Amino acid sequence: MRLSFLIVFCFLISCKEKVNEKQVPEISLNKVIDTVVKSKPITKVIETRLKSLEDIPDSTFVRLADYSKDFVYDMRYATENNFLKAKVYNCAECYTRVKTAKALIQANAEFIKNGVKIKFFDCYRPNSVQYKMWKIVPNPQYVANPVKGSIHNKGGAVDITLVTLEGEELDMGTDFDFFGKKAYHDNLNLPENILENRKLLKETMEKHGFWSIRTEWWHYNLGAASNDKIADFKWECKESN
Ligand SMILES: [Zn+2]
Repeated sequence: MRLSFLIVFCFLISCKEKVNEKQVPEISLNKVIDTVVKSKPITKVIETRLKSLEDIPDSTFVRLADYSKDFVYDMRYATENNFLKAKVYNCAECYTRVKTAKALIQANAEFIKNGVKIKFFDCYRPNSVQYKMWKIVPNPQYVANPVKGSIHNKGGAVDITLVTLEGEELDMGTDFDFFGKKAYHDNLNLPENILENRKLLKETMEKHGFWSIRTEWWHYNLGAASNDKIADFKWECKESN
């Protein structure tokens, strides 16, 4: 008699627990869905509906961050932390033409195998911004003449360095936009680790269709972009930028 009472009591308790288990997740799940829908509904929809790069013409401009989460950005011309000491972009974005984006993603996959990844200082630069820069520093030694334009204006040039997978910058000997011999590729009078870091950057970029210029270790042009037209497409700035 005592035993059967105990069994019935235990059965009642376990039923009660089951009812509770069932109710609690239903309530919290609704709350979670509600929060997700209210906070970021549009971003999610746009991301899942983006066309693959393979389906977009090579000359189209794309926002690199929409196609890879593996890059790091420090868009210096959207700040005053650059040689112009002026903010010439309204907001920080990295756009390139599709063919440049494809080559960058492939190069970055190879960098990641070596424990590093690309960090951008500048990407596509609208021709009107080139005019802004020329107005501040009208010297072809430092800024490309906007009439002729730069490959940055064609969406085929990028200014980059390498960071570890944790985001720590590799030592390249100088900061971005340091104008002087220390930034030259043919200056071999530098510590071995710096030469090795520059070599890894240059050899990997060249393997993926980019070429360098002698005086700036950070600048890379996509070879296939040199005949493209200068553009003045301007990206949208969201309020959060
Ligand atoms: Zn550059």
